[in-house]
Amino acid sequence: MIKIWDQHLHTEFSGDSETPVMDMINKAKELGLPGITVTDHSDPEYKEVPGKFDLDIENYTKTIPEIARRESTQDFKIYCGIELGLQPHLVKVQEVIAKSYDFDIIIGSVHQVRTMDPYYKSFYEAMGMKNGYREYYEEMLENVTHFNDFDTLGHMDYIRRYAVRHLPPEEGEMRFEDYRELTDEVMKTLIRKDKSLEVNTGSYRSRLTEPNPSIQYLKRYYELGGRLITIGADAHKPDTVGDHFDELPEMLKNIGFKSYFIYEKRVPREMPLY
Ligand SMILES: [Zn+2]
Ligand SMILES: [Zn+2]
Repeated sequence: MIKIWDQHLHTEFSGDSETPVMDMINKAKELGLPGITVTDHSDPEYKEVPGKFDLDIENYTKTIPEIARRESTQDFKIYCGIELGLQPHLVKVQEVIAKSYDFDIIIGSVHQVRTMDPYYKSFYEAMGMKNGYREYYEEMLENVTHFNDFDTLGHMDYIRRYAVRHLPPEEGEMRFEDYRELTDEVMKTLIRKDKSLEVNTGSYRSRLTEPNPSIQYLKRYYELGGRLITIGADAHKPDTVGDHFDELPEMLKNIGFKSYFIYEKRVPREMPLY
């Protein structure tokens, strides 16, 4: 039985999922997870497919807590969070969203770099590989520097998931050392602001053999003093709720982490890794 709370998953409110919330809940209960936090996408101004990730936040923040009240038990809880797509020019917009609703956790994620999503091959064609990685981390640093209303940084090396899909391995795989100056700054900013770094297992669905971010990043974060981590499988369908969670406690404990954190009403709570 996996004892980790899955703090990153998507349902039918997200533009990229059709899964009813109940299907996710039933799967998580079947796995014996202690809880889940629904974190549907809000990516305003998503230029690749306009409107795709516009979230009906009113309806979402009414419906999920209603279901949570009905379906939570002594051993299983359901929280309501959100995954905000960060873009430097949207800081004010996202601040308003963060303050206007009662979320348990806000995941800040970079899905767009100069309005292009590394999910698509066109990103690499327009930017070139090396430059694409650099721009991605530069924009991430800009986001985490100027935006404060988030709790954890989602899938920090998200770009790797798709670079390995679209390019031959020798080109698509980044060298950690090449971007270390930037990634160090991102991590130091998180630590200074008391934000978490997310360990996201959605990576395993993209031919990667480690979480996002990879072990090298997690080690570096720990070395720099980072202790706050959150965990999520980024499931869009029931079969990937809690995906690869059984491997995480040992992997994280080997790095030095003793716990992970869940957020309730934006306040972190320490949870044991076992
Ligand atoms: Zn994401
Ligand atoms: Zn996600």
